[in-house]
Amino acid sequence: MSYSTSVDFGKLKAAMVAEQLIPRNISDKAVLEACRRVPRHEFVPEKLRQSAYSDYPLPIGENQTISQPYMVALMTECLKLKGGEKVLEVGTGSGYQAAILGEIAGEVYSVERFKDLADNADRVLGLLGYKNIHIKVGDGTLGWSDFAPYDGIVVTAGAPSIPESLVKQLKDGGSLVIPVDRGGFGQVLTLVERIGQTTRTSDICACTFVPLVGKEGWAE
Ligand code: SAM
Repeated sequence: MSYSTSVDFGKLKAAMVAEQLIPRNISDKAVLEACRRVPRHEFVPEKLRQSAYSDYPLPIGENQTISQPYMVALMTECLKLKGGEKVLEVGTGSGYQAAILGEIAGEVYSVERFKDLADNADRVLGLLGYKNIHIKVGDGTLGWSDFAPYDGIVVTAGAPSIPESLVKQLKDGGSLVIPVDRGGFGQVLTLVERIGQTTRTSDICACTFVPLVGKEGWAE
């Protein structure tokens, strides 16, 4: 029997919620329930499965990472989803954040710049039975205009500034959550709420994400 199959992932998943999310004030019941349901170990490389529920990001290939469980929960909570919404994710990576969103929202559209990551995420999400998550390969800094406007947008990579295209694809009353660079002061997870033709921007917390590379992001 391999180590992986002898690990009780259900127990690790429950402990992740109880020890990493609830004590840090993640309180949205739908978010906590989604984190209890989604098998995070299916989204990480086989040799790292035993660490899938640990309190840190893990490598997934292409020098990219699956984000720390707390960060995924926090970004999802920021969108205040009630169920049935249309959500855009920029940076599919492993597909884990998309699965968490897919548990709550109606439809999830997710853009990834690396084809092999997008293909793998699509495969895992398909095997797990998600039918409401749609992935495309491309530059997510430009959003996915075919399905706009969105109730919520999550950007899972660090931007130099807030991409105008994403703000334009947000519904009135919708929220965009995005790590934004603050020069020498690192990145700040930033919440942008669209109110008519204006926006309200607030800081959530300091964070560290891989760079958002694209036309309205960092240059390659
Ligand atoms: N949400 C992911 C998950 O659950 O595994 C974490 C993704 S990782 C922290 C950030 C991802 O953003 C990487 O896969 C990276 O390739 C992707 N990325 C960076 N710039 C991008 C862009 N302009 N468009 C789409 N994806 C981008």
